[in-house]
Amino acid sequence: MAHEHRKFICITCPRGCALDVTLEGEIVVQMEGNSCKRGIDYVTGELKDPRRMVTTTVRVRGGVHPLAPVYTESPIPKPRIFDLLAVIRKVELKAPVKVGDVVIENALGTGINILASRNIPAKGEVS
Ligand code: SF4
Repeated sequence: MAHEHRKFICITCPRGCALDVTLEGEIVVQMEGNSCKRGIDYVTGELKDPRRMVTTTVRVRGGVHPLAPVYTESPIPKPRIFDLLAVIRKVELKAPVKVGDVVIENALGTGINILASRNIPAKGEVS
């Protein structure tokens, strides 16, 4: 099988290594630029099941802010992100919102919860 050369940026840690990868199908046969072995796991995951953390906001009724920041509890499959954002857009929370509140449980049946990342007290409530 012919070899293919591809470039990736490993996002596993803040170092963000630029990876030069030689592939045979979905098998990594050579890699340069990775500062640790997790670079190989990252590329393997990207090839088989690419995932991303998603952060966005949801509307809050009766809060001191109209929006609450939320995030995926763990990385979600990339092909599901568009649908996930569509579902999140329909959500409206009622204040107060607490950090760690489950905003959506088992989003899109992925087993991944969407959590609030900030307290939004209700209007008139002492935070
Ligand atoms: S290869 Fe290792 S050091 Fe480089 S970004 Fe990935 S996890 Fe971090």
